[in-house]
Order: sequence, then structure tokens, then C-alpha cells
Amino acid sequence: MILDEGAEILQTEEMFIEDEFVEESVLHTEASSSMASLHDVVVLPNEGLSSTACRPTRDRSAQPTLFLDKIEPLTKTNRLSSGYINRAMEILKTQYPDIGGLFFCTLCGTLDYPQATGRQWMQIVHDASQHWVLVANGFFQENHVLVYDSMAGSNWRSKHILSCMSLLLKTPEKEMTYIVKACHRQGNGFNCGVFAIAFATSLANGQDPSTLLYSPDLLRTHLNECIAKGYLSPFPSTICRVKRARKDSVLSESVFCQCRRTSYMLPAKGWTMVECEICKEWFHSMCADNFPENENETWLFKSCK
Ligand SMILES: [Zn+2]
Ligand SMILES: [Zn+2]
Repeated sequence: MILDEGAEILQTEEMFIEDEFVEESVLHTEASSSMASLHDVVVLPNEGLSSTACRPTRDRSAQPTLFLDKIEPLTKTNRLSSGYINRAMEILKTQYPDIGGLFFCTLCGTLDYPQATGRQWMQIVHDASQHWVLVANGFFQENHVLVYDSMAGSNWRSKHILSCMSLLLKTPEKEMTYIVKACHRQGNGFNCGVFAIAFATSLANGQDPSTLLYSPDLLRTHLNECIAKGYLSPFPSTICRVKRARKDSVLSESVFCQCRRTSYMLPAKGWTMVECEICKEWFHSMCADNFPENENETWLFKSCK
């Protein structure tokens, strides 16, 4: 569940009023920090936590944003919440500490991912609507970001996911190239998160998810068992022997500014862009110093002055 900042606070307040104390792992992040990662997972003890003591106030400078998302056992049809995705990525991070990325997935909402480091990285990202997708780099086709989307159509281009990918990659090049992999497609409207975790587990185990045919009826039971054990083993699958109708699509997207993001903007202050007269590069107001008040004003980026 991705909520905007205001809604998130409200939701948290409601939950705290209902619950006397917190039993789940509480994912805790500073609203202003772009470095929130799995290291920021804080487990609050039950003792000494009354609803009064931890009820957030509206003073955001004093209180970090708390994001509480229960990890409920999966039913046959529920969608996976961010709590479930975060827990799965946390387990993978423990099993495969050399794989980069695997950050707190709620960063999708504000597009604040740090650059993913390491020879290989992966991240389950959200499309800002109702869909989870796995993106990865350094696996099999090492010079491209790979997209494993259990719902990808022929003309895949989720602007929100592309922005997440550009942040994780942070390429110095002018373009980010990526491959939308032809992989197992979900047969319903609620299994994207389950598939994203299955794809991530296969990749981490050295298997290319696009070569696999998963057993849809067994995926949820397997995932529930893995989460209960705190260990993700490969999901039931066989090698895909039929030729998939869709092929991999190799695509590219321009990236800009020091942050190397795509041109996609959130409707928030700071995302406006201006062009430097010398290098002809575009910069965000949030990434540049002395951003011009008047759009028609001649402006130079600091390294071009
Ligand atoms: Zn920028
Ligand atoms: Zn310049």
C-alpha cells in the first residue's frame, strides 16, 4: 500500500488509536532522508509502549514518519501490501548480502531511492497504482536493467517505474537502456506481488525467471511458508519448454540532471526543470543551486559558470 505523505500520517494515527501497542516490525524512515534502507527497519518492543507514548503528532520536524503495514498471512486472493514486499526483500538481503538494492519499497511513493550499489542489484518497485514489478541489474544481460513484470503488455512504459529504475541505476550516460523480459504472466488481477517475489528469488538463486514456468496454484502456499520460516527458497516451477509469444523488448529512456532521473515529474515543488545555457542539460530545481525565479532568465549550472 503506497500512500501519499498526508494520508500515511492519518492512517498511522488511526492504527495507533485502534491498537494499544505495536506488535509487528515497524518500518521507520525519516521523511527527509533518501538513504532509508533495510538498515532502517526498527523493531519496537511491546513493553512501555502505550498508545499515548507513540501517537504521532503533526509536528513533522520532531517526529519521523511511521509507516505501519501489517503482514497478514496471504489468502487466496489478497494483494500484497508493502509490508509483505519489504519483509520478503529483507529476507533476501539476509540470504544474499552481496546483492545490492532491496531497499525499503515505500520509497517508490516519493521517488527517493538511493543509487543501488554492487555488481548485481534488484528491487521490487511499485507503479504508484496497484502493481508490483521486479527490476534488476547485473544479471544475465549485464549492461541493461532488466524488468520482470508479470503483467507487461507489448508496449510497456510505466513512467513511475522508469523513474525508480533511473534512480537505482544512476547512469552517467544520457540514456538508460532496459529490457522488458518475456516472463510468466499472472492469470488474475492480484498476483503481481507474489510473482515479483518469486522472480526475485529465482534471480538471486542464479536462475533467469524468463526461462521458468511457475506453478500458480502453489505460489501463495510456498510464500506463506517462506515468510513464516524467514527463508526464501525457490518457488515451484519448471523450465519453460514452449516458446513465449512475446519477446524481450530492448528499450531506452533519456535521463537528466545530476540525479540522472527520467523526465517524469511528481506534482510537487522541486520537480520543475530548467536548462543550462552552456551544457544544454536539464536540471531540477531541487537538485540545482540558484534556480531562476523567472523561467526565461538565462541560467547556468554551477559547474558551467
Ligand atoms: Zn535532479
Ligand atoms: Zn551547464
